[in-house]
Amino acid sequence: MSRQVDRFDAAVVGAGIIGLAHAYELARRGRSVVVVERSARAHGASIRNFGMVWPIGQPSGDRLGLAMRSSETWSQIIDQAGLWCDRAGSLHLAYQDDEARVLQEFTESAHARDDYSKQLLKPAEVAQLAPRVRPEGLLCGLHSQSELGVDPREALPRVAQWLANAHGVQFRFGCLATGFDNQVLKTSSGPMGAETLFVCSGSDLQTLYPESLATAGLVPCKLQMMRAVLDGFPHQSFGPMLASGLTLRHYPAFRDCPSLPALCERLDREVPELGRLGIHILVSQTRDGELTLGDSHEYGDAIDPFDKPEIDDLILRRLDTFLDTTGLTITSRWHGLYVKHLTEPYVVLKPAPGVVAVTGLGGAGMTLSFGLAERVVQEFFQSAGV
Ligand SMILES: Cc1cc2nc3c(=O)[nH]c(=O)nc-3n(C[C@H](O)[C@H](O)[C@H](O)COP(=O)(O)OP(=O)(O)OC[C@H]3O[C@@H](n4cnc5c(N)ncnc54)[C@H](O)[C@@H]3O)c2cc1C
Repeated sequence: MSRQVDRFDAAVVGAGIIGLAHAYELARRGRSVVVVERSARAHGASIRNFGMVWPIGQPSGDRLGLAMRSSETWSQIIDQAGLWCDRAGSLHLAYQDDEARVLQEFTESAHARDDYSKQLLKPAEVAQLAPRVRPEGLLCGLHSQSELGVDPREALPRVAQWLANAHGVQFRFGCLATGFDNQVLKTSSGPMGAETLFVCSGSDLQTLYPESLATAGLVPCKLQMMRAVLDGFPHQSFGPMLASGLTLRHYPAFRDCPSLPALCERLDREVPELGRLGIHILVSQTRDGELTLGDSHEYGDAIDPFDKPEIDDLILRRLDTFLDTTGLTITSRWHGLYVKHLTEPYVVLKPAPGVVAVTGLGGAGMTLSFGLAERVVQEFFQSAGV
């Protein structure tokens, strides 16, 4: 007797944030959805990150708009799924004149766009907002209210659970998708029927449609990360998520600031090892007061499977230049991997009829996820005439 095959309007491969965002956009349009994830639970880039929904890193225009739209959806889902969220925003710190100049220029251009959610703070105001920030030599801080912080280790499973409960999305964990033909998804747990397929497989470019994904110009990047507790802080708010001068050369948002080239030149001269290892410092906080610290960026052939203690030391030493790290204890260390395109913010491919692949969001997947999924799903249905 032939076995009944489960049928869905859409199948999504990957239960990372991009897969969950697409499942949400499909389900809220009334489609029946199955998410197929090869691991017992998501354990890719999406649970290894800072949990920063970080519009401030995106250049103004379409990408910033997408990030803000994504952030709005995140906010709704945070409320509906009952997720913990840090709404204290972000704080970029300047200890050098060139850093202060870039922050000043950035703030002026935000204000010229009527964005007053960004304010330049004096050292005394920074001290009030972020009590562990070092006051010695601090020139100013850029406070932005548009960033959100979630704890990815909590958020990913909770959003999946919420999608199942509130939107009827079905999940098949521990299930590898191996091919899609004639509206049938082949998986390690047997076939599933689906009219359309959304491939959100993160950095895996080999298993599904390698002829399209592996030739799309995507480069892998490895990032080293840590979690830590600070004496006295488990039960206190740490203030906004933190970034320092190094971050200004990392995100494209700051690239139009006239003073940025001089800042980059100084950093290359003074701390070449940080540039070589792609190190800049970000700090976020969890509900329990743990700090998530990072990161580094090693690309392509420079990636090896083993983590470098040298990177962690450089991150911690640099962190101590702007944060009082007395009593800091590391509670975990790990690395994450993502793929990014060298010129595009993300990659959307149509490798076969009825199939869309979405990946290559680099370090902005949490930030752009829901905005991008809305755009992709909308365009898919428009082009299908639905
Ligand atoms: C250390 C680090 C810090 C970061 N910090 C931030 C941040 O703070 N803010 C931000 O915006 N972005 C951040 N990013 C980027 C962000 O995490 C990624 O862009 C995003 O998680 C990518 O999501 P994804 O769903 O595409 O990939 P993933 O999270 O890797 O998910 C892909 C999933 O697909 C599954 N899969 C693959 N192939 C198959 C198959 N054939 N069958 C079944 N399942 C399959 C995998 O098992 C995996 O679970 C960071 C990334 C890293 C690594």
